[in-house]
Amino acid sequence: MGAWCFADHMGPAKVTKEHGLDIGPHPHMGLQTVTYLINGEALHHDSLGTEQLITPGQLNLMTAGEGVSHSEEATGQYEGTLQGIQLWIAQPDATRHLAPAFEHHGDLPRIELNDTSATILVGEFCGVTSPARHDTELMGTDLKVNRRANFPLRIHFEYAAIVLEGSLMLNGIFLEPGHLGYLAPGSDQIEFDALEPSRVMLLGGVPFESEIHMWWNFVARSRNEIDQAFNSWRDDDGRFGTVASNLDRINTPAPFWRAPG
Ligand code: MN
Repeated sequence: MGAWCFADHMGPAKVTKEHGLDIGPHPHMGLQTVTYLINGEALHHDSLGTEQLITPGQLNLMTAGEGVSHSEEATGQYEGTLQGIQLWIAQPDATRHLAPAFEHHGDLPRIELNDTSATILVGEFCGVTSPARHDTELMGTDLKVNRRANFPLRIHFEYAAIVLEGSLMLNGIFLEPGHLGYLAPGSDQIEFDALEPSRVMLLGGVPFESEIHMWWNFVARSRNEIDQAFNSWRDDDGRFGTVASNLDRINTPAPFWRAPG
């Protein structure tokens, strides 16, 4: 949907002080990772030297550009339920070869309307705009929907709705966790009818400028670009930097299109 190209609903899972997401250092290129929790805490480390705790309602936004690496770890202090979502945003040609960057937004804008509480992660929703960086025209909002509610849409955007908790009808279609509702460009409003108090991520954007190639943790335009990134991580040639982490570096077999050996 627009530049949104991947979604991972994390948990709900029980974590301890020592074991959380436990995702060791791994590389990214050509994308932004959007990390957002609705329960629990997690600790982010990256090759820019960032160490950042994230709690519910906050945003960690890491821009990979030409290359970055990071880990997602237990906090050493939090135990209990962990739940959230990690989304990827494909970067356009204008920025995808530039340097990596990291932003933490601890206090995102929120609005209340239609008995719904909205937290705006990226872009604009109902007149409220997030300060987070975005390289293409898009939006992402966390909605706590309690009943029937209508919201205006941008007619040239396509949208996805991802239910994290509860269940609802989206323009008459039943949605629950594990499913993604899609709206093609051309709608000027969306109607949610919550069957119970529900938590839904609404993601939208202008259809992306080009086809993308996704493989493992990389967003590219060709297999050749992915091959080069794979080689750089395998050879640890410095492109993706180094992460201060006690977890093991994550490796992967070569892309399927390459001859064994
Ligand atoms: Mn990652």
